[in-house]
Amino acid sequence: MLPKPPSRVGQIGFLLFPPIRIEGVTIAGEGTAIVIPEYDLCFDIGVCFKPMLSAKYVAITHGHMDHVANLPYYFSQRWFQGMGVGTCVCDKRIEPAVRGMMQGWIDLENQKTSHEVIGLDQHEEIQIKNNLFLRAIRMDHTVPATGYAVIERRTKLKDEFRDLPQSRLMELKREGTDITRELRLPMVTYLGDTLPGPHLFCDEVLKTRILITECTFFEKEHKERAAIGKHVHIDDLVELMPHLECEAIVLTHITRRTNLAQVHEEINRRFSPEDAARIHVLMDHRQNRRRYDQQMVAAEKAAGVGDHGDSADNKNKPQQSASSSVTPSATTTPAPASSGASE
Ligand SMILES: [Zn+2]
Ligand SMILES: [Zn+2]
Repeated sequence: MLPKPPSRVGQIGFLLFPPIRIEGVTIAGEGTAIVIPEYDLCFDIGVCFKPMLSAKYVAITHGHMDHVANLPYYFSQRWFQGMGVGTCVCDKRIEPAVRGMMQGWIDLENQKTSHEVIGLDQHEEIQIKNNLFLRAIRMDHTVPATGYAVIERRTKLKDEFRDLPQSRLMELKREGTDITRELRLPMVTYLGDTLPGPHLFCDEVLKTRILITECTFFEKEHKERAAIGKHVHIDDLVELMPHLECEAIVLTHITRRTNLAQVHEEINRRFSPEDAARIHVLMDHRQNRRRYDQQMVAAEKAAGVGDHGDSADNKNKPQQSASSSVTPSATTTPAPASSGASE
């Protein structure tokens, strides 16, 4: 009798929500790291592959090993490969421990690994790109935990000036009149590990374009486990769903105790077809690949009406930036984290 083949933990999940990609690996207790290349941002770093290493910012939600284990590797490899100093954003309450861990690794590796650590208090923000800001939102987990919202700030002409000609607007501006107001649009929100609760009832969660949420447990018998570990159970998601205005809800951190077929069965049983269509499972490689192929066909159609050029050429046109990471090759997880009861 032959032993079972190794599980494919190293394969990177992939979802395209133009113009951004959400890529990552996420299994409860083993490792979670989710990267949005367009934002130069990685959420958690329980594992670290090339796309995570390339992100300039790593926002850590909490100190559990499956979310933080590869942070020293991230800093060390970036230093070693001359990629510039990475920046870790974390909950202010764990900042000293993160710094202490890095000092431990500096001693251990005998390498002066440059690293930057920024601790954020509740609702503090840092700028990560031109109009993009990362905002901290406290969560409710067994250890200090914080989620993050990527907020896009846009300026918009105030309503009362909307119908004025350009020349008059310029004049008003010269006179010092404030003719614009600021819009704050949550684009992506990542919760990390959390119990549901009042802290989720804010615009950054309910009105974000894409909500990346953990949903560790799906089975009735796992309700207590979810409560003890302070995790989301699908029952919680059912309650939250009517309040979510999001275009997409991406599920992460699913336990290995439940297989993908059961996960989809539960989603289809518990939600309306419209809501089920909004829910995506990041680690469902087969379904997400199918979705991506459909997106490509639709994009080709939109871009290629009347165009009879080379089809392979067209294929790369609509989503050129995505093509390199469509089928990330399977890689081996560097030292998978073992976290015991802490997930
Ligand atoms: Zn945790
Ligand atoms: Zn976890």
